Amino acid sequence: MTEEDRVGETVTMTRMRPVDVAERREAPPEARETVFEVRGLTAGYGQSTAIKDVELEVYRNLITAVIGPSGCGKSTFIRCLNRMNDDIPGFRHEGEILYHGIDLYSDGVDPVEVRRRIGMVFQKPNPFPKTIYDNVAWAPRVLGLKKELDERVERALRAAALWDEVKDRLKRSAFSLSGGQQQRLCIARAIAIEPEVLLLDEPASALDPIATSSIEELMHELKRDYTLVIVTHNMQQAARVADRTAFFTLEVEKSQRAGVLVEYDETEKVFTAPSDKRTEDYVTGRFG
Ligand code: ADP
Repeated sequence: MTEEDRVGETVTMTRMRPVDVAERREAPPEARETVFEVRGLTAGYGQSTAIKDVELEVYRNLITAVIGPSGCGKSTFIRCLNRMNDDIPGFRHEGEILYHGIDLYSDGVDPVEVRRRIGMVFQKPNPFPKTIYDNVAWAPRVLGLKKELDERVERALRAAALWDEVKDRLKRSAFSLSGGQQQRLCIARAIAIEPEVLLLDEPASALDPIATSSIEELMHELKRDYTLVIVTHNMQQAARVADRTAFFTLEVEKSQRAGVLVEYDETEKVFTAPSDKRTEDYVTGRFG
């Protein structure tokens, strides 16, 4: 599958009702809407296990961060959420990932449809060698959403906080943009077809601090309309942007290494009053 196919598969569903941030923050846990329910997820490649027995729920209109040392399975985990691992040779998994109650890996679930509802943005900005306009219009065109395409493109670029910077040069190559602008363009491309969920795998790690802060600000804006899951190796970033944080670590058992979920809670709790010593050691910089 080409990169273009992959991104093209991250294509739509009805737009989410904007949710007032303050109202949502105060919402009691029982009022939260679950988007993903991960049950006993073990995943790996060939003989090796990348993550073991992960149990976790992802809630609507929140930013959920996945943190932990390199190799603990963060990327593997987030890529399970939209079946992005399907094409990796040797990939295997056990357990369930329920998306609004439906197991994403059950028979009859079309991975292309999954990626239409659950979009993904990668570590390195990967715009297509096309114009700025055509990058954003690409997925809507593939889906036949050609009506009012200009408006759709503008809406996506505005939502990605890029419109003002590019509105006078939409016909120029995407490669004429800076790295940070290219990443916002990739976000615009992902949301042009209005998915419900946006998965971001280290979206700012290739960017300078100013571009990083604009991506972080953008995430705050996006969570009004989308559910976001972000992998980051940058703890400060998780602390700044995420409502909830999942800390993974590597466990060694019988000389087999596997990533396990140690703690999953409100970000503030994970960073200021973690309940597991391993989390405390990691967030205080004693390990990792
Ligand atoms: P992280 O994102 O936390 O750095 P990864 O999910 O990338 O962790 O990797 C977890 C484990 O899975 C590592 O041991 C890594 O080598 C292995 N792994 C990741 N991707 C592949 C792959 N495509 N093929 C084989 N092993 C892989």
